[in-house]
Order: sequence, then C-alpha cells, then structure tokens
Amino acid sequence: MRKKFIAGNWKMNTRSIDGELLAASVVKGLGAETRVTVAVCPPFPFLARIAQAVKGSPVALGAQNCYPKDDGAFTGEVSPAMLVDVGCQYVIVGHSERRQLFKESDEFINAKVHAALKAGLKVILCIGETLDERKGNKTEAVLDTQLTGSLAKVTAEQLGNMVLAYEPVWAIGTGVNATPQQAQDAHAFVRKRVGQLCGAAAAEALVIQYGGSVKPDNAATLLSQPDVDGALVGGASLKAEDFLAIVKAGIR
Ligand code: PEP
Repeated sequence: MRKKFIAGNWKMNTRSIDGELLAASVVKGLGAETRVTVAVCPPFPFLARIAQAVKGSPVALGAQNCYPKDDGAFTGEVSPAMLVDVGCQYVIVGHSERRQLFKESDEFINAKVHAALKAGLKVILCIGETLDERKGNKTEAVLDTQLTGSLAKVTAEQLGNMVLAYEPVWAIGTGVNATPQQAQDAHAFVRKRVGQLCGAAAAEALVIQYGGSVKPDNAATLLSQPDVDGALVGGASLKAEDFLAIVKAGIR
C-alpha cells in the first residue's frame, strides 16, 4: 500500500521568523507520526534555517525549483547539489506557475528531473491542465504530453525517487478544487500512462499527489480516492493548524 505524502508548497511567502515558527509548529504537531510522509517547501533563502527547524523530526525539507546544472555562470539560479548541501531531500519541478509565468517547457523540466535525481534529490513533478484544456476535453492529451516530455529517459528505478503531483491549473489558488471523482479519473490515467512509459510495477508503487485548493474540509474525501496518494498544498500549508489537519486526513 502506498504511504500518503502531504507536502506544503509555501511559494513566495513567509519571512525567516514566521517561516521558522510555521515549521516548528508543523514539527510539534506531527510529533513522532510516521504513517504519513510530510514535507515543507520554503523559499530558497530560508531553506538552511528551516533545515535546522525540522532537524531530527519526520518533517522533510523540499525546495520549489532548481536549475539543471551543478555549478557555473547561471546568475540567480540554484543547483540541485546546492539544495542537497543545505539539507533538502525533495525538489518541486514543473509547477504550473513555473510553466506559465516562466514559460518552462517539458524538455527543460525533464532536464531538471534528471539533474535533481542525479544529485540525490527526490523529485515532485507537477502536471496539470488549464480550464480551457479541460473544457475542450483535452485533459488526457495534455497530461500525456507533459508526462511523455517530462519523464523522457526516466527509468523504473529512477521513478522510485519521484512523486507525481496532479495539479489542475484551474484549481490552484482558486478555492475550486477538483471533485474527488475528477481527481481519481486523472490520477488513474496518469498511473496508466506512467506504466506505459516506465513499467507497470514502478507506476503501481508511484505516489501521485493531488494539488489544487486542498483544505482541511475537502482533504479527507480527496485522499480517500484509491489513486490519490497525498496532496501538494499551497495556501493551506501556510497555517500550521490547516496543514496539520490535512496531514491528519492522510493518516489511516
Ligand atoms: C500549489 O501551489 O501547488 C497549490 C496546490 O496551491 P493551492 O493549494 O493554494 O491551490
């Protein structure tokens, strides 16, 4: 059985002090609970401090992005090796905000996937369709393209160090979540397609998170779907109480 994985994407929010307090509250609220995997993904400048705040606890640390090179003349960018150096275990790659605002292609995202895996990070790879694409019945075609491109040359073994996050763009930060059935249908499709790309056994073991307006009051029904193995949480991860309530919904 796949263990549920709840990750908080803080995006470009918090300052060092409130980030530390938030992380400390998550650590305290989670205690020694390990029936669910939990990670927080703060902005780059606070990673080292939050690494200290979660040290010795079951709360893992993730970054929100990386650049697919080890070192070099890439002003303003951060390499996977640097993320490992400050204590990250995870990195989010291909978030829709990066795809849309920074025009990241599947090819570039694929390069990040390989660079992050090579550095020893676990990758949370995000995919998802826009509202227009859903309305035009293109959801599966879009997911297919994103999966094929971003998972190019990813082996079954490498997939073992990856998590997929299905995040319909229309549900992110809007307060309109996918219905549990919409999430289940998309997740089942993603698992099937990943099975064709990387092998059925690896796809069966793959954790697929749902992301998009997950809140304490909708988490339990979303997480009860057979192919929904966790949540990538944006807004609600900024309040320890709400985030911990979502984590609790993932415990069984
Ligand atoms: C996200 O940023 O990945 C996300 C799902 O945001 P929110 O929970 O705020 O919709």
